[in-house]
Amino acid sequence: MTVCKFGGSSLADEKQIRKVKAILDVDERRSIAVVSAPGKRDRNDEKITDMLYECNALAQQNRSCRPVFDRIAHRYIEIAKALKLDVDRLSMALDDIRHNIDAGRGGDYTASRGEYLSGQLMASYLGWEFVDPADYIVINGDGTVNPLTYERLSARFAEGGHYVMPGFYGATEQGVVKTFSRGGSDISGAIAARAADADLYENWTDVSGMYAADPRIVEDARVIEDLTYTQVRELSDVGASVFHEEAIAPVFEKGIAINIRNTNDPQAPGTMIRPDSATSGLVGISGKGGYSKLKLRKLMMFKRPGMRHALLTMLHLYGVRPSYSLFGIDSIVWFFESSQASDSVLGAMTERLKKDFALDDVTVERGHAILGLVGGHMDQSTAFIDACSALRDAGIRINCVNYGSSNTTTLIGVGETDCNRAVQVIYKALF
Ligand code: ASP
Repeated sequence: MTVCKFGGSSLADEKQIRKVKAILDVDERRSIAVVSAPGKRDRNDEKITDMLYECNALAQQNRSCRPVFDRIAHRYIEIAKALKLDVDRLSMALDDIRHNIDAGRGGDYTASRGEYLSGQLMASYLGWEFVDPADYIVINGDGTVNPLTYERLSARFAEGGHYVMPGFYGATEQGVVKTFSRGGSDISGAIAARAADADLYENWTDVSGMYAADPRIVEDARVIEDLTYTQVRELSDVGASVFHEEAIAPVFEKGIAINIRNTNDPQAPGTMIRPDSATSGLVGISGKGGYSKLKLRKLMMFKRPGMRHALLTMLHLYGVRPSYSLFGIDSIVWFFESSQASDSVLGAMTERLKKDFALDDVTVERGHAILGLVGGHMDQSTAFIDACSALRDAGIRINCVNYGSSNTTTLIGVGETDCNRAVQVIYKALF
């Protein structure tokens, strides 16, 4: 059987929802649908989830969420009317939710109601059973999925019916509604696929798969037909955003294939993501700005045991958690997300590092970007050398490289202002 997850754009209005039904009707293996909250109908529209967070912000200030909530209610009612569903029942559910938000049920409950209502609507429209993830998906305090989830959800799906489950949320072990991070319905879909022991996890969105480069940067970027779990994880880590990077973990162990598909172009085969295999060649390039570079230098630095660990512990105290590292003979470079620390925090941190570790030099530089060349056997391919030559020819300076630590990805650091141009130049030269 197949688990299908539909993203917000696939549920944005009546027209989109009809497309979802047609997709489900055409293949009887598609028996579990996981749904997001309605997304934007056009570029200037609002996402229901964003509006719900606004409602919560109002409630936190002891103000009524009504002005924003009325717009949310209007969208659901419009959809229900167009699909000829029971509007009275929906209005009652909406009133209930508005009262709960105003009563201060909090951000997770409030945000989760977008998916909850979407799931209710879809279940009645399709005539499928509604499964509330708050009763099945147990989310630990740190956001990870509690194994109890699979016991409970597998038993529910074992009845072999047709189910609609809202994405994005579950509950704590104590039964309090809790959401995943933004875009988390991908994770819910993967959980459902694993619990149902699905043959395939289809992830329906508004693009025809993962692209070899961000199509907003490279206009004619092509869709990647086949990818491995690791390649998706590593592409997402350096900025590709089609699929939530945490959504690989639930299907990883069972090796369930993921197919990224386009609700607006259901004939397109999309991108197939499969368990890791011995593929080779370059599949994609992505880049992400917003990094700072911390450089530490001290003669004979690594002669002191535990130095690296002690330095990292100090960084954590200031909220800095490096994403990438480079080690020299007497130096360390760490790249971290600039948003993790303000200038004054960084100032205090560098002072303390210098003093406590008697460092010869500490510098922090903002404005960096990291590019990832992702493929198979990257450590044996010429892609890296070709990319470097293309950057040199375009006059783009390389600030760092990480080659050989993974055979899936080679990382290249450039200035943030060069990031998009670097992606274009490399795409043109290598694809
Ligand atoms: N609606 C949620 C969000 O906007 C979750 C999702 O769509 O995956 O982040």
